[in-house]
Amino acid sequence: MKILVINSGSSSIKYKLFEMPSARLVTKGAIDHIGEEGSEFANHYSGLKVILSEINHIEAVGHRVVHGAEKFKKPVIVDQNVIKGIKKCCTIAPLHNPANLSGILACQKLLPGIKQVAVFDTAFHQSIPDYAFIYGLPYDYYQKMGIRKYGFHGTSHEYVAHEASRILKKPLKEIKLITCHLGNGSSITAVDKGKSVDTSMGFTPLEGLVMGTRCGDTDPALITHIMHKKKLDTKQMDFILNKESGLKGISGLSNDMRLLEEKANTGNKRALLAVSIFVYRIRKYIGAYMAALGGCDAVVFTAGIGENQAGIRDKICSGLFDNLRKKPKILVIPTNEELMIAKQAYNLISAV
Ligand code: ADP
Repeated sequence: MKILVINSGSSSIKYKLFEMPSARLVTKGAIDHIGEEGSEFANHYSGLKVILSEINHIEAVGHRVVHGAEKFKKPVIVDQNVIKGIKKCCTIAPLHNPANLSGILACQKLLPGIKQVAVFDTAFHQSIPDYAFIYGLPYDYYQKMGIRKYGFHGTSHEYVAHEASRILKKPLKEIKLITCHLGNGSSITAVDKGKSVDTSMGFTPLEGLVMGTRCGDTDPALITHIMHKKKLDTKQMDFILNKESGLKGISGLSNDMRLLEEKANTGNKRALLAVSIFVYRIRKYIGAYMAALGGCDAVVFTAGIGENQAGIRDKICSGLFDNLRKKPKILVIPTNEELMIAKQAYNLISAV
């Protein structure tokens, strides 16, 4: 069965075509600048039209959808109800869900009768217990506004957890892992018996680690303090926290960890500080999740930094487990979110 996997972002569409169940990658590609001035693609529909004109025999489509809130705990076949549900989640994921939905609606028009499956970034984290997902805020904010930790990168954490179980030859149901997805956006997940039991991102992808341009954990009182002092509105503050902070904000140089590692190694103090903060925050989370899990079989590194930057991995792991009787293994596993989406779409469609 040929399954097209689509990751439809605000101005881009990335796609991979898989033959399932063999998982053979048939083709892949991307288009950018959708909706931007001077672009040949006015919207997702016109972009997908061009992509689909070059691909034949699609039997199903798997869509990455960032936010499924508490409604979508696993992948679903798209119907009118699902579309309504994804639309509802747009209010808590205004940057991502509308673009994901545009991709789904465009595919419905361009591939009538072809089954479409929505796979949610948040779904893997729906197993997190309430004591780990409720914030210390008035409880009715959770009940009335859905304010809680959701977590993201779920498809990636789930994929590497499955791979780790295969590599370690230990059933998923018996495994304890700490999975570190370290890219431009970064998150860490505690996996117990193959299920997510805690994760560093929160209500939005801003919480947790220091990332390329996102601040991660910070004192919430700072936000109102800075807004007051610098006379910023919510939009401006949001921009600073998401786009001007993290590695870029600390170093004053870049969000690119390759450049920062190089500069840090040749004596640039701010680059070294950014790298040190990034590493220290990850070490703290690993320590916290070791405690939450009561030990773990392996720490898994994935995504751009996790897969490729051995120097950063060494700094994170240096001396971390020296005093433990049972030391976790360190694994580097390339993520493949698109393949995970294709597998989940295939499994769902084959089961009906
Ligand atoms: P995202 O998908 O969140 O945009 P990536 O997983 O592509 O991010 O990771 C980007 C980060 O990984 C950057 O900081 C980049 O410098 C770093 N990196 C290191 N080596 C590589 C590599 N070979 N390819 C891509 N990114 C890399």
